Amino acid sequence: MTDTVIVLFSRDLRVHDHPALAAACERARHVIPLFVVDPAIPPRNRGGFLAECLADLRESLRERGGELIVRHGDPVAETIRLAQETNAQAVYASLDVSTLARRRQSRLLQECERLRMEYLVFPGLTIVPPDALRPSGGGDHYKVFTPYLRAWAQQPRREVLKAPGMVHVLRGLDAGRLPEAGQEPYELSRGGETAGRRKMEQWLRHCVDDYAEGHDDMAGNRTSRLSPYLRFGCVSPLELEALARDVGDAGGARDVAEIEGEGRERRGADEFVRQLCWRDFFYQVTRAFPRINRDDYRPRGNEWRDDEHRAQAWKEGMTGVPIVDAGMRQLLAEGWMHNRARLITGTFFVRRLGVDWRVGADHFFELLLDGDIANNYGNWQWVAGTGNDTRPNRSINYIRQAKRYDPDGEYVRRYVPELDAVPTRRIHEPWRLPSGVPGYPPPLVPMD
Ligand code: FAD
Repeated sequence: MTDTVIVLFSRDLRVHDHPALAAACERARHVIPLFVVDPAIPPRNRGGFLAECLADLRESLRERGGELIVRHGDPVAETIRLAQETNAQAVYASLDVSTLARRRQSRLLQECERLRMEYLVFPGLTIVPPDALRPSGGGDHYKVFTPYLRAWAQQPRREVLKAPGMVHVLRGLDAGRLPEAGQEPYELSRGGETAGRRKMEQWLRHCVDDYAEGHDDMAGNRTSRLSPYLRFGCVSPLELEALARDVGDAGGARDVAEIEGEGRERRGADEFVRQLCWRDFFYQVTRAFPRINRDDYRPRGNEWRDDEHRAQAWKEGMTGVPIVDAGMRQLLAEGWMHNRARLITGTFFVRRLGVDWRVGADHFFELLLDGDIANNYGNWQWVAGTGNDTRPNRSINYIRQAKRYDPDGEYVRRYVPELDAVPTRRIHEPWRLPSGVPGYPPPLVPMD
C-alpha cells in the first residue's frame, strides 16, 4: 500500500464517481485532495460558481473525515511543493484535453519523473474517454458526429463509482483559503456537487421524459440546465448517462397503455443521451486538435470583417433582431443561453454580421457558466462552417426559427421588455411596424 497520494482536482469537483479519488482512497494510507487556484487563469464569469463548488467539495470531504487543501499559484509548482512537504509518493488527476490542461499534465509528469514520484491520470471528465475510439478507416479521431455516435453507443462503460466512505487525509496540513465568491451567484445555478446532484435527480425524475418534445421550446425551460455542473465536474457525465438510461428503460418496460404517447420516456432519455454524446464528441476532437479555440479546424479561406460596432451591438443585445437580442440578453442576465438561441445568435454573428467566429466565441466563453473550450469552440466552428459540420454552408432563416421555436414571442418578451406591447404577429419582425418601436433599434443589417 502507498503511504500518501495527492489527488489534484481541477474540473472534477465531486466525490461521487471520481476514479482518481476512489483509487487513492483504496490504495493509499493518506490522501491529500488538493485544488490549486491559478491566478494566471482569469475567473471570467465563473469565479462565483467555482467558489461555491470548492466550498461544497470541502464540506463533502470533511463529512468523510477528509479535507480539501487549497493553494494559490502555479498548479504544477504548488502540487510538487506539497508533495515534497508531505513525502507523497504519487499524484493522481483526471485526464483533460485543452492546451492548458495538457501543458499542465505534461509538466507534472516531467516533475514527478524527476522526483521519482508516480503520476497517474484517470478518466472522469467524459462518458467515453477522449482517446478511446479510433475510426476504422484510419485517423486519430472521429471528424463526423454520426459515426462517432454509433461507435460511442457500443463502447463498454466503466462502472459508476460510489463516493468514498472515508477519506484519510494527512493531518496537520494548513487547509488553505477558499477563493472568495466575488460577484453574486446566478439565481438559477448555485455551484457545487450537492446542488448539481439535486438538479440531476429532479431532472431525471420529472423532466427528461419530455426532452424529445421540449428541448427546442425556447421559453419553456425544458432542458436540464446541467451544463455548468458538467463543466466543473460537479455531476459525473457517466452517472448521468446511466441514470438517464434507467429512466428510458423504465419507460420501455411500462410502455403501451400506461404511458400517454407511447415510449415517451425512451425517446426523451435517448435524445438526452445523444446530447451528452455531442459533449464527448467535441472532447475527442479537441484532444486531437487542441488549437480548436484559435485555428480553423477546416480552413475554408473565409474573410471575416473586423467590425467592432457590429460586434458590440450583438454583445449588448441591440441588433434590432428580437430573437438574437433575447438570446444575447439571456446570456448577460443568467450566464447561460438556450441551445437554440446559441445556434441562432452564433449563426447570425458569423453569417449575417460577417465577423470572425473567434470574437463571438470568446465573448460566449467569457460569460457562460458552462463556458468550456471543447464545447464552446467546437460548436462555434460548427456554426461558422469551419468545424465538424458536413454541410459547412448550412444557413438558417432566423425569423422562421424564431416563429417556430418561440411562437408566442414569450422568450423575446422575457428578455427584451421594450417589445412587450408589440402584437405577437409582429414580435419577431418589429421593423414591419410602420413607426418602429421606441427605445428599440432598427435591424443592424437588412433583414429582407
Ligand atoms: P441539455 O439540452 O439538457 O443537454 C444536456 C447536456 O448535453 C448539456 O448540459 C451538455 O453537456 C450536452 N450538450 C447538449 N448540446 C450540446 C452540444 N451541441 N454540444 C456539446 N454538448 C452538448 N455547451 C457547453 O457545455 N459549453 C459551452 O461553452 C457551449 N457553447 C456553445 C456555443 C454554441 C455557439 C452552441 C451552438 C452550443 C454551445 N454549447 C455549449 C452546447 C449547448 O448549447 C449547451 O450544452 C446546452 O445549451 C446546455 O444547456 P443544458 O444543460 O440545459 O442542455
